[in-house]
Amino acid sequence: MWRCVHGLRASRSLKSSVSRLFSSTSTSASFPYTIVDHTYDTVVVGAGGAGLRAAIGLSEHGFNTACITKLFPTRSHTVAAQGGINAALGNMTEDDWRWHMYDTVKGSDWLGDQDAIQYMCREAPKAVIELENYGLPFSRTEDGKIYQRAFGGQSLNFGKGGQAYRCACAADRTGHALLHSLYGQAMKHNTQFFVEYFALELLMNSDGSCQGVIALNMEDGTLHRFHAASTILATGGYGRAYFSATSAHTCTGDGNAMVARAGLPLQDLEFVQFHPTGIYGAGCLITEGSRGEGGILRNSEGERFMERYAPTAKDLASRDVVSRSMTMEIREGRGVEGPLKDHIYLHLNHLPPDVLKERLPGISETAAIFAGVDVTKEPIPVLPTVHYNMGGIPTNYHGEVVTIKGNDPDAVVPGLMAAGEAACASVHGANRLGANSLLDIVVFGRACANRVAEIHRPGEKQKPLEKDAGEKTISWLDKIRNSNGSLPTSKIRLNMQRVMQNNAAVFRTQETLEEGCQLIDKAWESFHDVKLKDRTLIWNSDLIETLELENLLINASITMHSAEARKESRGAHAREDFTTRDDENWMKHSLGYWDNEKVRLDYRPVHMNTLDDEVESFPPKARVY
Ligand SMILES: Cc1cc2nc3c(=O)[nH]c(=O)nc-3n(C[C@H](O)[C@H](O)[C@H](O)COP(=O)(O)OP(=O)(O)OC[C@H]3O[C@@H](n4cnc5c(N)ncnc54)[C@H](O)[C@@H]3O)c2cc1C
Repeated sequence: MWRCVHGLRASRSLKSSVSRLFSSTSTSASFPYTIVDHTYDTVVVGAGGAGLRAAIGLSEHGFNTACITKLFPTRSHTVAAQGGINAALGNMTEDDWRWHMYDTVKGSDWLGDQDAIQYMCREAPKAVIELENYGLPFSRTEDGKIYQRAFGGQSLNFGKGGQAYRCACAADRTGHALLHSLYGQAMKHNTQFFVEYFALELLMNSDGSCQGVIALNMEDGTLHRFHAASTILATGGYGRAYFSATSAHTCTGDGNAMVARAGLPLQDLEFVQFHPTGIYGAGCLITEGSRGEGGILRNSEGERFMERYAPTAKDLASRDVVSRSMTMEIREGRGVEGPLKDHIYLHLNHLPPDVLKERLPGISETAAIFAGVDVTKEPIPVLPTVHYNMGGIPTNYHGEVVTIKGNDPDAVVPGLMAAGEAACASVHGANRLGANSLLDIVVFGRACANRVAEIHRPGEKQKPLEKDAGEKTISWLDKIRNSNGSLPTSKIRLNMQRVMQNNAAVFRTQETLEEGCQLIDKAWESFHDVKLKDRTLIWNSDLIETLELENLLINASITMHSAEARKESRGAHAREDFTTRDDENWMKHSLGYWDNEKVRLDYRPVHMNTLDDEVESFPPKARVY
């Protein structure tokens, strides 16, 4: 089907070759695909916090590393993170990583893997000091230590010692500071960046191992096969499956979809976090740090209603709890403003103006631009908004991708790793605590690099790629590029986003979820009728958005079907017909496979064990704040 014509042109990688391939079946056979082959020790897909931290570590260990990214690195969604990063540094009060671990296990509603949570919380202080050494300009206390603010779901002494001050931050622009510091470090090393390259598919060997990825250079339309002993996916979340999300338009779950199309499972996708305070209408985030600094939610009666729902933690209860409480207030007619009364007020106007200026300058500006509000005088109109995907590509605490093989629920997929929001380690379980994701991305980005160094040596000889590696992907790309149905990409996308927003919302029932499954299956079917107007290969945003839509649809389908199947309430998955957590039947991870364009579900056990005797595991109990 593909014909090799010539092999010319030097490439930037050490070992690469070019061939020019023509499609014999495509409707545009005049359009040749040029394939460039590269060989690296490791390839990282994604240059957000997780991808950059992995790439830095790999280069430090001497691995010849390629980092492929569809965005310029510092445009990755990590740049938008506001509130901060958790670590038991103990700068404000006494603190202990075990207390942080307890909060994280409790926050996860006992769906998190306790070995991975222990690993993350124990590594956290080191990870934050490392970021400080990389040059991250943290906010400071009077005596020059890293300032730490209160954040949701954080306590002292295993929930018995009151609110913890554990969230290190750079005002309310922590992600910006973090991503730029990491990018600066990455520049010091030998990582080879392939910027504005869109990864299409994994190169899987018939023995089940991963041998790299194939990507499209969006600038000139060339295709690139990256052959590597280890491939690390750090492609971020898929918030854009929903209509209203705080995540960037580029958060389309591409890595997740590549894994699903390779026949591997995605884990716990039904757990989607709604952040309590997205700006009403615009959806932009107002950080939980605003409540950490003393902000208060009030209903139409001016009541601080969180006192009723979470008497101890109040406005700083964990996110799922606050989002549900706000939704209940609105449903019971106590929403604010206008005939719809469909949102809530976040008050910061009682806080001293200098605190707002020093600690929350970014959100003060965001509120002025997107809500027309002066935070020193008026409340901000807010509504729970999709924010984070707890689920993703299942991994162990080394970052190795796992799947079920025979009787082994933890079988490692050779050559494939994942980190960051794309991955599910699973440290967040059914609900992520604020400021634990920036931590997750640096800790597990680094863990991936360390694991590669344990298994491989720089320059190690690699098994050759199979002869037809990437062929199917090229046919598929060609087919999509030439799609000539009746529906524009934007129409299918809007339909999918509405279905997700309505049917997999903060509260769920069997009825809404069953209908959601039917509607999302139909949305998938309608994708076969997509129409592209632009058939070129150079800066073709129509093509890229369509590829992203396919990826979103796969994520959305697995999310809806996993949610329908889970007959309990746990963390962010709140069912009105099954209102309690059912540990006996449902303390297990959902696995969603994309099988012949249909979702198939399976389950694997939660790790209740810890890594060693530095801490005992936390047995399940009722989760109250
Ligand atoms: C507004 C906002 C505020 C937040 N605030 C906080 C906070 O204060 N604290 C906290 O802990 N968490 C916060 N979070 C969550 C946290 O920021 C994210 O979960 C985290 O930054 C994700 O990092 P990542 O490296 O996994 O992915 P991203 O930063 O999303 O990076 C993904 C990378 O993958 C690349 N990529 C994706 N698909 C492809 C493809 N097909 N081909 C090539 N490259 C690809 C992109 O180019 C990008 O470089 C916030 C999230 C949002 C949306």
